[in-house]
Amino acid sequence: MLLTIRPKAASIEINGDGNRTPNMKEKFSNEFASANAFSTPDLLAWAFDRFHPRLALACSFQAEGSVLIDLVHRQRGSDFRVFTLDTGRLNQETYDCMEAIRARYGIEIEVFFPNATQVEDMVRQHGMNLFYDSIEQRKLCCSVRKVEPLKRALSGLDCWMTGLRREQAVTRNQAQKVEIDHEHGGVVKLNPLADWTGRQIWDYIRQNRIPYNRLHDRGYPSIGCAPCTRAVQAVEDSRAGRWWWEKPETRECGLHVKSA
Ligand code: SF4
Repeated sequence: MLLTIRPKAASIEINGDGNRTPNMKEKFSNEFASANAFSTPDLLAWAFDRFHPRLALACSFQAEGSVLIDLVHRQRGSDFRVFTLDTGRLNQETYDCMEAIRARYGIEIEVFFPNATQVEDMVRQHGMNLFYDSIEQRKLCCSVRKVEPLKRALSGLDCWMTGLRREQAVTRNQAQKVEIDHEHGGVVKLNPLADWTGRQIWDYIRQNRIPYNRLHDRGYPSIGCAPCTRAVQAVEDSRAGRWWWEKPETRECGLHVKSA
C-alpha cells in the first residue's frame, strides 16, 4: 500500500511500512539542480521548507557539525532535529562538546547506540581491538558500531544533512550539496558545507565563538572513535589521522558510501 504525504512543494511516496520509494530524484529533479548552486543559508531554508520534520542533521561533534548547528539555529531556533551515533568508543572531548552544544542551543540530541548483542558477539569472536588486525575486521566494527545504527537513524527520515566537505579527503572530493543516498533507500542527503574550506570553518567558529571539540586544538583535524584517530602533522591530509594504518582510499567507515 502506498501512502502519499504532501510537503509544500511536491509529494513524497512512502510504502505502508514507512520506507521511502526510490523516487526522490524524479520528484525533485528540477529543484535539485538549482539547489546545488544555493548558498549554504538558502540551501538550509530550502531543505527545511521541503522536508521538516522528516529531516535531521547528523552530527559527530567535529568542527563542521558545530558550524552547521549554529547556522541552522539562526534560522530555526531550537526547532530542528539532530542525531548522533555513539559507537561506545568515543573520546571524552566529544561528549563534552555534545553537552556544550546541548546547553548553548537548547536542543535535544537523538543518540543511537549499536545493537548490544551484535557488539557482544563481535568482541567475543575477534577481541576489543579487532580493527587493528585487518581492514575486514575494521569494517566489521564500523558496520556494527556505525552503519547499522545509522540505518535505524535514517529509517524515519526523508532527508539527512551532514558536515561533509570536498576538501577533507580523496574519498570526498566529488561530494555534491544535494545527493540521493541510494545506500539508504533513496533518502535525500544534503552536504551544505561541501564547498567550504577548512579556513572558512575556523573563521566562522572563531568569529561566532561557538562550542567546538577541543581535540581540534591538539592536532586532530578529523575526529572519530578514540582507538582509530590520532593527531596529524600540519603537512598531512586532514583525514590522515583516521585509520592511519590503512591506505587513504579505504579510510571511510561506510556512512558515506556512494553506489554507482
Ligand atoms: Fe570501530 Fe574504529 Fe570504526 Fe569506531 S572507527 S566503529 S572503533 S573500527
